[in-house]
Amino acid sequence: MLNLKKIRRDLHQIPELAFKEHKTRSYILSILKNYPQLQLHTFDFTGIVAEYTVDDKAYTLYRADMDALPICEQTGCEFTSQHPGFMHACGHDMHMAILLGLIDKVITENVQQNLLFVFQPAEEGFGGAKKMLQTGFFQKFNIERAFALHVSGKLPVGKVSSKNGYFFANSEEIEVHFYAQGGHVAYPGPGKNALQAGVQFYQLFFEQLHLRYGSSDIICDFGKMKAGTAMNAIPSKCSLEGTLRSFNLAAHREVKNLLKDTAKKIATKYKVEYQVKFGIFYAAVHNSDKLFNHFKQVIKQTEYEFELAEKVYAGEDFGFFAQKFPGLLFWLGTNDSKQEKDLHEADFLPSESALEIGVDIFYKLL
Ligand SMILES: [Zn+2]
Ligand SMILES: [Zn+2]
Repeated sequence: MLNLKKIRRDLHQIPELAFKEHKTRSYILSILKNYPQLQLHTFDFTGIVAEYTVDDKAYTLYRADMDALPICEQTGCEFTSQHPGFMHACGHDMHMAILLGLIDKVITENVQQNLLFVFQPAEEGFGGAKKMLQTGFFQKFNIERAFALHVSGKLPVGKVSSKNGYFFANSEEIEVHFYAQGGHVAYPGPGKNALQAGVQFYQLFFEQLHLRYGSSDIICDFGKMKAGTAMNAIPSKCSLEGTLRSFNLAAHREVKNLLKDTAKKIATKYKVEYQVKFGIFYAAVHNSDKLFNHFKQVIKQTEYEFELAEKVYAGEDFGFFAQKFPGLLFWLGTNDSKQEKDLHEADFLPSESALEIGVDIFYKLL
């Protein structure tokens, strides 16, 4: 039997960023190579698929993500990150250890069912799931179900949570830039001030957004705005960076148009140039009703506790798998302390005692 705690600790010490999960990949392959029952597939990037085929029937897919974050670890644990400035602050080390635990159990128990185990790079904003699907690899398989879990510091160990339908939001990055002539503050004039355009854009856009989508399922916000270089020079460039989150694709597209229209209107008014750019898009995670009911039934027969989840405005690129195949993602409680630390915090440390629970639930979902 695999020592999942050791595996988790080993992986925790070698956090790597999106598409740079080279040590992580070698580590996982070194374990998978011990199972002749698996057919291992690698790609020209860091993803891995372990195929377990027993007959010509349909497949069930399990996915774990592999990447870490540019966060400086402050957990003080004995297996702290050995890569300064990087940390498994989203618990993907746990996800990988759980998937390896499931593989080991499936093989030990000689399960007679076709399975695909996906180790996916670059979940944190760089589109790893999309990249894996774009390889065309999965088209060779008839995939009936896709499962994934995510650790949660909000839930205690022993508790799980999920919902049917929309769970994680559509998510897309936004950049809005204004370019002007700039110049000495003593000589203002039309076409010179990019900051003025940026500020006016910000106000007009949110007025419009509020009027049209007051309380509906949309969040759009700018977390970053940058302009100017000197206190007495008119800024020639102003950039706003933000994100758009939604549960409704039609409204999502409308808000993108609103961003473009507003930027154009402002640029015309202040005689400046503009550019609106959109970054990586993550499809919403939509859980299948059938798999959700299956999940609830499975949990009912265990000692674990189930809680109906709220939908979240976070992005999760398992959404791309759940778009292609009936899918289910659930939260796995990993909090064993009184303090609540959660994802992406420098002192977030999911409890090892949740590893076996993750394996057990994955296995029972088979
Ligand atoms: Zn994350
Ligand atoms: Zn994550």
